[in-house]
Amino acid sequence: MSFESKERLKKSLEKGKVSLNVKVETNIYPSEELTIIADIKGNEKPKERLVFSAHIQEPGANDNATGVGVALEMASLTAKFIQQKEFQPKRTLTFLWGDEIVSTRRYVKEDSIRAKDIKWGISLDMVGEDTEKTGGIFLIEKMPDPSAIWTRGNDKHTEWGGSKMKLSQMKPHYLNDFLINKFKKQGKRANWKVSTNPFEGGSDHVPFLRENIPSVLFWHFTDQFYHTDNDRIDKVSKTTLKNVGTTALIAGYTLLNADENTAKSILFNLEKAAVSRLNEELKQSKIALNKGDSLKTQLLIINAWNNWYQESFTTTIDMVSYKNNLNKEIENSKKLIDSISKTIIKKLEI
Ligand SMILES: [Zn+2]
Repeated sequence: MSFESKERLKKSLEKGKVSLNVKVETNIYPSEELTIIADIKGNEKPKERLVFSAHIQEPGANDNATGVGVALEMASLTAKFIQQKEFQPKRTLTFLWGDEIVSTRRYVKEDSIRAKDIKWGISLDMVGEDTEKTGGIFLIEKMPDPSAIWTRGNDKHTEWGGSKMKLSQMKPHYLNDFLINKFKKQGKRANWKVSTNPFEGGSDHVPFLRENIPSVLFWHFTDQFYHTDNDRIDKVSKTTLKNVGTTALIAGYTLLNADENTAKSILFNLEKAAVSRLNEELKQSKIALNKGDSLKTQLLIINAWNNWYQESFTTTIDMVSYKNNLNKEIENSKKLIDSISKTIIKKLEI
């Protein structure tokens, strides 16, 4: 429905009951599924890869010419950097343009040997919005973490909505906090609002997650022109595209060339994120207890976050060649977060 007809309908509804005659013309026909894949081969670990995906089947400017365009710009820039010898990825950087969910699902399912070494997947979907016009703010949709079970405090679902998840569906990983950290920094530099939402699904990150490949979604919501014929180029902001593209590329290059030092710095930031998360949950649990919620639930939440971070610390090992070098740091982070969780639990039990 167009924006204008929506507005007309809203006005009529204010006056009372409205009947609508809807005429739908559809066409079903066999067609080719078109997918383009561009690989920029890594020179040290070419089998390991990061995949940026952008779906091409949506007809709007924001959804999803922005994702398609920014991915193209990221690919061309990378090619230029390599030619000028300014950058060389150690792992393979892959760009995939195709049918939403269909092409990415095939990419992770059709070749089990290739799939085994996909380390990260990032979906670029509605990434260039002019927020003042559309209302949509930049969001990183996190891999399933306990905020998708207990959504409280600063965590909020979007109007797209998400269903309450189970503990068994959690995907503990460093990718969430690593990306949030990178984008928040750019947000500060560029005076640009960066936010997150608990896992909801519905884009190209889903097929990756189903195959247990760490994956997040970069997007904007709620865009008042989303899926209307007013999703045009005048709703797109060059500045936003630049912010998303640059930061995605910097984050991507960091992952592609990650080594022991990168793993240590990611682990260090992950530990900081864990501490601030646990303190925030303590605050939220106190509020909940005052409202009469059960202590049992609060302990469940604190333990869930503790476990989530314990397991996330371990995942940083996938960036290093000699695992022994990182084990001590991981153990230290685990111990620290475990002891903070125990202290919080004691505070709540009083
Ligand atoms: Zn889309």
